[in-house]
Amino acid sequence: MEDQKVAIITGGGRGIGAATAKLFSQNGYAVCINYKSDSEAATYLAKDITSQGGKCIVVQADVSQESDVLRLFDTVDKELGSLTVLVNNAGILQKQMRLEEMSADRINAILINNVTSYFLCSREAVKRMSKSYGGLGGAIINVSSGAARSGSPNEYIDYAASKGAIDTLTKGLSLEVAAEGIRVNCVRPGLIYTDMHADGGEPGRIERLKSKIPLQRGGLPEEVAEAIYWLASEKSTFSTGNYLDLTGGL
Ligand code: NAP
Repeated sequence: MEDQKVAIITGGGRGIGAATAKLFSQNGYAVCINYKSDSEAATYLAKDITSQGGKCIVVQADVSQESDVLRLFDTVDKELGSLTVLVNNAGILQKQMRLEEMSADRINAILINNVTSYFLCSREAVKRMSKSYGGLGGAIINVSSGAARSGSPNEYIDYAASKGAIDTLTKGLSLEVAAEGIRVNCVRPGLIYTDMHADGGEPGRIERLKSKIPLQRGGLPEEVAEAIYWLASEKSTFSTGNYLDLTGGL
């Protein structure tokens, strides 16, 4: 019997990550749901997955911290086995403001949570997946944002710049590991209904902006999850270093 495929979803307890964890599980993956602080949401999701017959583990780890990332990957090695897919999804947003108001602490928090975390998790994934290290290959999917292109002026250019870094990470890493059996792609969601907009200080942001979206509505986490799953799947085997925009045409 073929070994079960294994996926780590960082920030998998809520929002886009939770929809992604569910979809991978429905498609036969053993899933690691990582979260930082909301244990209730992650545990609730895990119960839902196991009640449907899926296999999953829940691992608390702040993926901006190297020691936590090492512990996260070691746990997956021991409890689920050989890693097939990493979805770098965990991210934060802070209150809307212009650059003049931004403190160094805020900017550093955005960068460490949204950029350092993706680098550290990708590094650990490459060590396990790369055929140069005896791995079987695999796929990394980075959750970037349409903000990488828009720049999010007057709202959060720090967040937008962190996502620009993810686009560049996707390109560079994809070329670095292409010959070693690893594909690296990225999705760039637009306005998606999750708790994140409340963190930005405007829970109703999508309602304010949705008339500007050509499809005239915000997106669902499940619609992003489908794209992430496709980029991890056997259906996208000639795609690497690519960006898939999910912005309703915006
Ligand atoms: P969300 O509902 O706020 O969920 C964010 C998740 O990230 C939570 O599970 C949170 O953990 C986790 N997280 C944050 N920092 C972490 C850390 N240091 N270590 C581990 N986990 C951490 O947000 P979302 O909208 O689903 O966002 C998911 C991704 O999509 C993010 O990268 C975001 O930038 C991107 N995105 C979202 C939108 C949108 O409109 N929603 C648009 C474009 C891109 P806890 O549950 O423990 O708090």
